[in-house]
Amino acid sequence: MRSYFLKSFGCQMNGADSEFIVGLLVARGFLQAKNAQNADVVIVNTCSVREKAENRAVAQIQEYAAIKKKDALLWVIGCMAQRVGEELRQKIPKINRIIGATEIEFIEEKIDEYLLPLGNFDILTHNIQSQWSALLPIMRGCDNFCTYCIVPFVRGREHSISLTVLCEQAQKIVDNGASEIVLLGQNVNSYRDKSMDFADLLAKIAQTRGLKRLRFMTSHPKDICEKMVKIISETSNICRHIHLPIQSGSSEILEKMNRKYTREQYLEKIAMIREIIPDCDITTDAMVGFPDETQKQFEETLSLFEQVRFSYAFMFAYSQRTGTAAAKEQNQVPQKERMSRLAKLVELQNNIVKEIYSTIVGRELEAFFTLEQNKKNAHSWAGQDFGAKRILVDTDENLGGKIAKVKIIKSSGMTLVGELI
Ligand code: SF4
Repeated sequence: MRSYFLKSFGCQMNGADSEFIVGLLVARGFLQAKNAQNADVVIVNTCSVREKAENRAVAQIQEYAAIKKKDALLWVIGCMAQRVGEELRQKIPKINRIIGATEIEFIEEKIDEYLLPLGNFDILTHNIQSQWSALLPIMRGCDNFCTYCIVPFVRGREHSISLTVLCEQAQKIVDNGASEIVLLGQNVNSYRDKSMDFADLLAKIAQTRGLKRLRFMTSHPKDICEKMVKIISETSNICRHIHLPIQSGSSEILEKMNRKYTREQYLEKIAMIREIIPDCDITTDAMVGFPDETQKQFEETLSLFEQVRFSYAFMFAYSQRTGTAAAKEQNQVPQKERMSRLAKLVELQNNIVKEIYSTIVGRELEAFFTLEQNKKNAHSWAGQDFGAKRILVDTDENLGGKIAKVKIIKSSGMTLVGELI
């Protein structure tokens, strides 16, 4: 049997693309190799959002090129392949094929054209990987052109996948063993299929037979609407979690980022969500040190965090991406200052989470367990409640794919620790 090895960098969209590719390979009889040395095909799915991710990917591709079997194929796919594919091929001549992010939805043809001739395989029916929690992209690309972001350039214009196709895929995923589906898009709230919008899609997918939990990300603050929030509140299997990236607490910086909402408008959306779903976990992304960001504007981000009290936040120091409008700005905030602002924001957010979590100790929550963790002396399972809270349970019981009631006994940093009840 032929084998593949796939390494995926970056966001959940990339993760979903990688799962899709693995599904295609498995359906064609490929087996997963233990490591890149033994594989017949090595695939690296790259990310361009941050320079660090690109540097890590280049180092990894170089390593794979050096250790792969002589006749093994090396494919580089995804956002970085789209952005600097030819440069990569010149730098690492052992790369056999470059497939950019905009071509990934057509990758099945490339697999059939270039990989099937590697051997005689029985082609099984199309197989979506069976797993407990599955990612399902509902759209591709982005039309928003935030001035710091490379995504619209590497993933192309936004287009939605048909609702009928998505409903069929959701049913297949659940029939193959998953209990949870996470709908993915760069801006899920601009999903459209004729007269159907994202709220209609959520309501439809929630009806998938056997689906226990439905999640989605990412929502754009300018597009999130009351109709969608009401559907979440009225539907028993849609999780109470909305990821709503703020990026900056300063309206002036938001305008420079081309985010198309102000601090006030964002806070109105938060108030609307909390009025309709009081127990909704709201999480966010924020960036500090955007070009021209003054100390006062940074402090507006701190004060917004204090006001909203997010359940979780992905926080970054601004990183220049060549090809974006923001990278051409003259007034870049020095790296040292960016890192110092990031440390302050992280400290504030960590304290907020600790305070929120301390109020949860003693409560009973229902957690869905998907990740087994083995430490030196303990065996545990990680799960998520019906919102965005991560819960660890020490147990020898196999909790994989199960939803179980848990009593929270302590909070440790960013994680709640519970015991089965
Ligand atoms: S919404 Fe903005 S940050 Fe998100 S992918 Fe589109 S351009 Fe990038």
